[in-house]
Order: sequence, then C-alpha cells, then structure tokens
Amino acid sequence: MIELKNVYKSFTRKGTTIDALKGIDLKVEKGDIFGVIGYSGAGKSTLIRLVNYLERPTKGQVMVAGRDLGTYNDKELRTAKKNIGMIFQHFNLLESKKVFDNVAIPLVLLKKNKNEIRQRVMELLEFVGLSDKAGSYPSELSGGQKQRVGIARALASNPSILLCDEATSALDPQTTHSILQLLKKINAEYNITVMIITHEMSVIQEICNKVAVMEEGRIIEQGSVLDVFGSP
Ligand code: ADP
Ligand code: ADP
Repeated sequence: MIELKNVYKSFTRKGTTIDALKGIDLKVEKGDIFGVIGYSGAGKSTLIRLVNYLERPTKGQVMVAGRDLGTYNDKELRTAKKNIGMIFQHFNLLESKKVFDNVAIPLVLLKKNKNEIRQRVMELLEFVGLSDKAGSYPSELSGGQKQRVGIARALASNPSILLCDEATSALDPQTTHSILQLLKKINAEYNITVMIITHEMSVIQEICNKVAVMEEGRIIEQGSVLDVFGSP
C-alpha cells in the first residue's frame, strides 16, 4: 500500500544541510494500522509529508498503491491525493466556517453537487457522532470534537489511506482513547489503511499492529508491535 525504498530527504538552509531522512525502507500493507514512533526531530513529519506528496524525496522511491509518486504528472497527483486523508495535531479547521462547511471542503473542491454534499456530510457527521454540531463553529467544540470534525473531513473524499500526524497529542487521555477507538473502527469498517506518527508509546500499544521506530532520520526497528516491543 505504502512503500519507501532507500529514501533520503535533505533540507538546505543558509548553506547548512540537514539530513532529515537517511535511507528509509518501510512497508505498510493494506489494512495495517501502522505506527511510526520517535522523539522530536527524528524525521517523522518529513516521512509523512513524503507519503502525502507534500515533499519529494532527495533520493529513493516513495510508492503508494504500487506506483512511484515521482512518475505522476500534476493532474495525476491531484487525483492520487484524494486517495489520502490526513488529520493533524491542531486539527487545522477553518475557524470562520461551520462544522458542516469544514467537512464539505474536499467535496466542494471535487465539485460535487449540493444534494450530494449535504447527504455525504451528514452521513460523515453521524459516523463521527456529531450530527447535532453541523451548525456550530469550531470554537464552540471541545478538542475531541474538533478532531472528529477533522476525521470526517479527511474521510469525505473516500480515501483508502488515512495519515495521522500526532492526532491525539493535544488531547487528554480519555479523549485520546475515544479518538483511537474511532480510528480503529474506520480501519475495520471501511478497510482504510491507517498510518500514525506519534511520540507516545501508549498510542502504538493501543491500536497499532505494526510499528517502525525512528531515530535521527533512520528506522532502527520495524515489525509487529509484539515483535518490536515484546509482550507485557
Ligand atoms: P519529527 O516529526 O520526528 O519531529 P521532522 O521530520 O519534523 O521530525 O524533522 C526532522 C529534521 O528535519 C529536523 O532536524 C528538522 O529541523 C528538519 N526539517 C524538517 N523540515 C524542514 C524544513 N522544511 N526545512 C529545514 N529543515 C527541516
Ligand atoms: P493547502 O494544501 O494549500 O493548505 P488545500 O486546498 O489542499 O490547501 O486544503 C484545504 C483545507 O483542507 C485546508 O484547511 C487544509 O488544512 C485541509 N487539508 C489539506 N490537505 C488535507 C488532507 N489530506 N486531508 C484533510 N484535510 C486537508
């Protein structure tokens, strides 16, 4: 589903080069809930930005659904992006728009008609348990509710991959638990492959089946959560 082959990514700033990724090999299979764990600065965000086509590798291949993203033209890239949903630590909702309109953003971009949008948005809000908040503004919601809106928006275009960038790091433990259970349900019911980056071991242990441990731009261990961290 997602495969990185010997991927390097360097950033050059003011004459200094930072090697953010140094030879990453990684394989996420369809149906996985794949966790990437590491300390701040390990290269996790860079890795997920490569998978979401927001960055290009300096060297190596990033394959999604069997194809190297380097071979896409701009039009193909836009189509491929619809296949990937993403949620964020700080939710990235538009504060000036109501919940309904936030969730509708991807559908508006896809030029769906009004009825279709209305039906799909209400279906998504029901799925995440926020049917009664369609007319609210993000500022009226709790953190957990905001992330549910983020999840609904990420699912709007029917992606087969959901990328989660520290999606529970701003939430308390109880809310984290309910969001992780929702991600598990999305994985199981919609057969969506989930990739999570986090610095929290508890997130990996609660829902991931596979894990990669990152340190200074490299993966130092990768495998099933049981193999990598052992049984309790
Ligand atoms: P993590 O998500 O694990 O905290 P990052 O991928 O954000 O790690 O960062 C890895 C390294 O790459 C860090 O040293 C960071 O400063 C650097 N880096 C990330 N993005 C950029 C960028 N756009 N320009 C320069 N350096 C960057
Ligand atoms: P940009 O990528 O330039 O920020 P877009 O038009 O792609 O703008 O995104 C519109 C809105 O959707 C923004 O609020 C952004 O935070 C959010 N967004 C961008 N990419 C994704 C994604 N893959 N999944 C969910 N929301 C996204």
